Amino acid sequence: MTCALHPGIRVSEIFGPTIQGEGVLIGLPTVFVRTGGCDYRCSWCDSLHAVDRRFRHDWEMMSPDAVWQKVIALSGGQPVMVSLSGGNPAIQPLGQLIDRGHGEGYRFALETQGSVSKQWFADLDVLVLSPKPPSSEMTTDWAAFDACLEAAQDKPQMALKLVVFDDDDYAYAKDAAARYPQLPVYLQPGNHTPPRPGDEDAFIDMAGVMRRMEWLVEKVTRDRWFEARVLPQLHVLLWGNKRGV
Ligand code: SF4
Repeated sequence: MTCALHPGIRVSEIFGPTIQGEGVLIGLPTVFVRTGGCDYRCSWCDSLHAVDRRFRHDWEMMSPDAVWQKVIALSGGQPVMVSLSGGNPAIQPLGQLIDRGHGEGYRFALETQGSVSKQWFADLDVLVLSPKPPSSEMTTDWAAFDACLEAAQDKPQMALKLVVFDDDDYAYAKDAAARYPQLPVYLQPGNHTPPRPGDEDAFIDMAGVMRRMEWLVEKVTRDRWFEARVLPQLHVLLWGNKRGV
């Protein structure tokens, strides 16, 4: 049941445990709660099934308790990292879910583009801020991004994750890193053949992804950007565009 006191969470999918495929928690066993809806529409979004309203019939409004029961069932009641992703999970009311899980020893990571801040960011264990570079065709509102950092109050472990497709994205990543020198930086080559909703086994240009990875490693080392970490999307290397893994 959802009500005014306990608003519902719009859920696209809940799955796992699997490993976190990218960023600061790469390789860590994780249950994913992917929320539905996003205030962005990136040109290369790889989660359109959780963004495009044409797929909202697959989304479900769930109470925090119902989400929690699903997490418990998937993890067998054994505390595990819960990754809150989307869409943009920051537009959902997730504070109560986080409190509930913490009470049972679970940890929570959230990844967002940094366009919407919530007070409960301070309750997270890990907050990954992933502003979108020029190739996304989105425009970053840095004041909104700063508000996310303020809401977090330095309480969660935080990181900056940047997807890089080309030189303009690389320049944007350097600018973002310079703005927030306190945040560790993770760079990730983009997947230019993202899954189409309903056709997740479709072609993925793995050779192209690997070429971009090599290009990025060369660029970072030639540039002597020694603070940046360059990581692939591990789930893409293992499973291509497949969903729910
Ligand atoms: S912010 Fe993320 S989920 Fe939203 S459209 Fe961009 S890539 Fe997709």
